[in-house]
Amino acid sequence: MKRPVINLYKYLLTFLGLAFVYWGGKVIIVTKYYSKRYDLIMDHTNVRWPLGLALLAFGVFFLYRAYKESSKRNTSSTQLAETETICVACQTPCLIDDFEEMTCPHCGGELEPLAGFYERHPELLDEDTEPGH
Ligand SMILES: [Zn+2]
Repeated sequence: MKRPVINLYKYLLTFLGLAFVYWGGKVIIVTKYYSKRYDLIMDHTNVRWPLGLALLAFGVFFLYRAYKESSKRNTSSTQLAETETICVACQTPCLIDDFEEMTCPHCGGELEPLAGFYERHPELLDEDTEPGH
C-alpha cells in the first residue's frame, strides 16, 4: 500500500492562518505605528476594525482549511473513527472520517471501503497490487 504523502499544503495553510491572525490582531491592537524610515506616525485608527477583522477572518479561514486538510488525510492510527477507503477511479487509498464526503480528494471520484475492494472489483487488479496468495 502506498504511503500518503506528507501534506505540505496543510503546513502552508497553518502558517498563513497564523500570520494573518497575528497581523489582524496587530492592526486592531496597535493603531499607531511610528515609521523610522519616513519619520512619521502612521495612524490607522479609522480602519482598524474593518481591516483587522478582514485579516483575522482570512487567518481563521486558512486555519479552518488546514484543519480540514489534516482531518481528511490524517494517517494516525489513534483516530479509530476514520475509515480506510480507496478511490474507484484512481485507486488512491485514503482515510476519511466523514461518510458524507465519499469523494476522492485527488480526483473527486467515488470512494469505497478498502476492505474487500479488490474482491468486488477484480478487474482493477494489476501485478503490483495483487496479493500473493
Ligand atoms: Zn481518485
